[in-house]
Amino acid sequence: MLKRSDEKKPLRPATMMVHGGTTRSGFGETSEAMFLTQGFVYDTAEAAEARFKGEEPGFIYSRYANPTTRMFEERMMALEGAEDARGTASGMAAVASAIQCQVKAGDHVVAARALFGSCRYVVETVMARCGVDCTLIDGRDLDQWQKAVRPNTRVFFMETPTNPTLEVIDIAAVAEIAHAAGATLVVDNVFATPIHQKPLALGADVVVYSATKHIDGQGRCLGGIVLSSKDWIDENLHDFYRHTGPALSPFNAWTLLKGLETLPLRVAHQTAAAATVADRLAERPEVSRVLYPHREDHPDHAIAKRQMAAGSTLVAFDIAGGKEAAFRFLNALEIILISNNLGDAKSLVTHPATTTHKNLTPEARAELGIDDGLVRLSLGLEDVEDLWDDIEGALAAV
Ligand SMILES: *Cc1c(COP(=O)(O)O)cnc(C)c1O
Repeated sequence: MLKRSDEKKPLRPATMMVHGGTTRSGFGETSEAMFLTQGFVYDTAEAAEARFKGEEPGFIYSRYANPTTRMFEERMMALEGAEDARGTASGMAAVASAIQCQVKAGDHVVAARALFGSCRYVVETVMARCGVDCTLIDGRDLDQWQKAVRPNTRVFFMETPTNPTLEVIDIAAVAEIAHAAGATLVVDNVFATPIHQKPLALGADVVVYSATKHIDGQGRCLGGIVLSSKDWIDENLHDFYRHTGPALSPFNAWTLLKGLETLPLRVAHQTAAAATVADRLAERPEVSRVLYPHREDHPDHAIAKRQMAAGSTLVAFDIAGGKEAAFRFLNALEIILISNNLGDAKSLVTHPATTTHKNLTPEARAELGIDDGLVRLSLGLEDVEDLWDDIEGALAAV
C-alpha cells in the first residue's frame, strides 16, 4: 500500500494508476506480483474456520478473490471513486453479472437501444428467458425513459457514447428518473473511458467496463469489472459473483494492472489524435458526416461538453457513396488495420453495417444512424501525421 497519511490531498489519476491498490509480498517486489494460485492454505483448522466465517481477513479461493485481482480492483476503485468492485473474465461477464445479480422473474429492465451487440442480446434474449421483460428506447429522449417505467422496473441500462455512432446520453438526468422509479442505473463506460467520464459522480449506481479495450489497450487479453458502492456489491453482486464464477484470471488482472499504469498517457494521446482527425475529416468532400462528441456539430454536443472531459478516442464518419465507397476506403488503408476491437495501441477501423451490427434489421440500423457508408475509427498510439497520411491516401482511393 502507499505510505501516505489520510489527511493529504487525494492523488491525481496518473499517480493512482501507477501506485493505487498495490500490496507487496514479503519480497518487496517493485512490480505487482502475479499470484497464480487457485487456493490458499491455513495454519490451523481454527484459522480456516475463522476465515470461512469472515472473522479473519484473508483469501479463500480465487473464484471469490485473489491478491492480484484485488490489486486491479482497488486501482480501478481509486480511479472511479467507487467503494468496491469485482473483476470479471470479460466485459460481457461484467455486464451480464451486473444486470442478472439484481433481477428475478417478473422484473423489468429499461435499456437504451444503442448498445454493444452482446449487451443487447443479454437484455433482450437472456433476460426474457429468465422471465425478465426489457423495453428498448432511444436513450437520448428522456421522456422515453420516463414512459417506459413500470411498477416492476428494477434496472436502467445504457452506454454513452454509444457504439458506433457516438450518441451521448445524459447520465445525470437518466439517474434521476431511475431513482424516482426505484430502479438502479447501470452505465457501460467503455467508450468514454474512466479518464474522461465518471458515471458514479453523475448519479449512476453501477459502472461496468470491458477492460479488454482501453484498460489493457494493447490487445493482449480479455477482462472486465463491475464497480459500485459497498452496499450494492454486498447486497447484489457478492454472492452471485462467488457462486456463478465470472472471476478474472490473476494473469489477466496483472496484465490489466500494467495497462492501468499507462492508461492516462495513452488515452490523452488517442483523444488528441481523434479530435485532430475528426476536424480534418470534416473538411473533406469524400466525407458526408463526422460524429465526434466534442465537435460543435455533434447532435449531443452540449451534454457531451457537460459530462465528458474530452470527446473520446474514436471518431465515426460517413463516406459518401455507401458501402462500396466505404469498402474502398478500408481496403486502401495501409497503417490503420481492419478490426472490431477499440482502444488499442494500433489504430483500428470497422464497417459496422457489415460486421458488428450486421445482425440488426435494416430498420434497426437506420434507427441507430448506421448507414452503409458509416466507418468507425479507433485511434491508436501511432504518430497522428502518419495516420492522417494513411487516411488521405485512402480517401483518394474512394
Ligand atoms: C467490447 C465491449 C463490451 C464487451 O466486452 P468484452 O471484453 O469483449 O466481453 C461491452 N460493452 C462495450 C461498449 C464494448 O465495447
